[in-house]
Amino acid sequence: MPTILITGSNRGLGLEWCRQYVQAGWRVLATCRFPAEAKALQQLKKENNALTLHRLDVTDHDQIHTLAKELADHPIDLLINNAGVYFEKYVRPDQTTDYGAWAHTFSVNSIGAMRVSRAFLDHLRRSQKRLIVAITSHMGSIAEIENPGSYFYRSSKAALNAAMKGFSLELKPLQIGVLLLHPGWVRTQMGGPDGLLSPQESVENMRNRVDTFTLADSGRFLRYDGHEIPW
Ligand code: NDP
Repeated sequence: MPTILITGSNRGLGLEWCRQYVQAGWRVLATCRFPAEAKALQQLKKENNALTLHRLDVTDHDQIHTLAKELADHPIDLLINNAGVYFEKYVRPDQTTDYGAWAHTFSVNSIGAMRVSRAFLDHLRRSQKRLIVAITSHMGSIAEIENPGSYFYRSSKAALNAAMKGFSLELKPLQIGVLLLHPGWVRTQMGGPDGLLSPQESVENMRNRVDTFTLADSGRFLRYDGHEIPW
């Protein structure tokens, strides 16, 4: 049975990745910071015994390595680094810059994905699909910056892109792929109610990118519909 591990799976896009892969017959290792509070995930688990729920804060090095050990027997075909924060949605740029919030944004959005990916490399190496996906954003594209603002988020996703691009080169000889995907503007807590896509549409599209992925695509920065985004 192919296996997927997803970070930040209690709501939004993470929850939708879980729903769709459970339905597709995969083993789903759903992770989130507070499993006891993750009501929608608990319900999904009740309905499907192929889903297991695990505690994981992507900024917590010890928690990540403990989980990697606990899951040592599970090859992981697909790792979705989905967890993310966008504090500036709530803090307007004209307010004093909260450098602590900026550092935390980096810790989750950039370093978190790298910490989790490195910890699960051995699980990936033992699988069939061998693919790491980083959910990034077109806002991480430096080429597309046309307005000021969103400094924490933009820089954290640009850093994620740079790190994952390099990582893709490191992992190619191990036959492990890395794909950077922009999900589109999606109606989640982060995207807000005016987003252009539902989580279902976004994840269905991103799954097509996953399904058609070959190692030749490793290190690419793609929109949900396959369009290449400039760095
Ligand atoms: P949501 O705000 O709905 O969900 C964010 C998820 O990340 C939550 O599950 C949250 O968990 C989790 N998370 C936050 N911090 C941590 C942490 N330290 N450890 C583990 N999990 C954490 O946003 P989306 O579903 O929209 O976002 C998913 C991804 O898609 C993000 O990486 C985002 O940047 C990206 N994206 C989204 C877009 C959109 O329009 N929605 C556009 C472009 C990119 P908790 O509930 O515990 O806080």
